Amino acid sequence: VIANAISVGVDRMLSVGIDLESSRASVALARGQPSVEAAVGVHPSTAHTFESDAGAVRELVEQGQPCAIGEIGLDYARCTTPRESQKQTFRTQLEWAAEADLPVVVHNRDAHEDVLSGLCDAGVRGVLHCFSGDEAFAGAALTAGLLISFAGNITYKNATSLRDVARTVPLDRLLIETDSPYLPPEGWRGRRNEPARVGAVAECLGEIHGLTVEEIGAITTANAARLFRWSA
Ligand SMILES: [Zn+2]
Repeated sequence: VIANAISVGVDRMLSVGIDLESSRASVALARGQPSVEAAVGVHPSTAHTFESDAGAVRELVEQGQPCAIGEIGLDYARCTTPRESQKQTFRTQLEWAAEADLPVVVHNRDAHEDVLSGLCDAGVRGVLHCFSGDEAFAGAALTAGLLISFAGNITYKNATSLRDVARTVPLDRLLIETDSPYLPPEGWRGRRNEPARVGAVAECLGEIHGLTVEEIGAITTANAARLFRWSA
């Protein structure tokens, strides 16, 4: 998967955690692969594991050299985890991010207000991954200093409103991702997604902003390096 990505010019990837096990795997992968960086965190869908695993995840934040805490966030659309438990899990990890001076990779589904207020209260920098929301929410996120990342779903035929939102995001706040193994771009739907497909997202954003794939690649690479403090 990594070699596929490198062969099409993707030279930096962020591997995120959703729970303790995947966070450990991200850290291990990043240690062995110069093109992979690690994020560690507990996702709202696994917030029920936070009570037992928080100590070990915290240890990874401190000792695993992650460049970000994530995916963390709130999901009021699909997750069955009670909102209070999601909020507590999110809040605690935001505090860690503030203490460790790390950015956060935020998962948000139908929780716009609570996500934004959590981020603003904690005073952390970060990115809204796989952005979903309207122009007003994107505007509020940009005002809060956040970056906005688009995934393969922006290429879907019916994603006109998402593309309209993307048009309003300034280039210096833009990131691209695949959200692998989920959300394969148009043309690969129904298949397992992988980082090598990120070019389709770049191409779509290039059309929106009147830029080439290479230009979008260079811009978003620089944005990621700045946010995650990646060295060249
Ligand atoms: Zn997510």
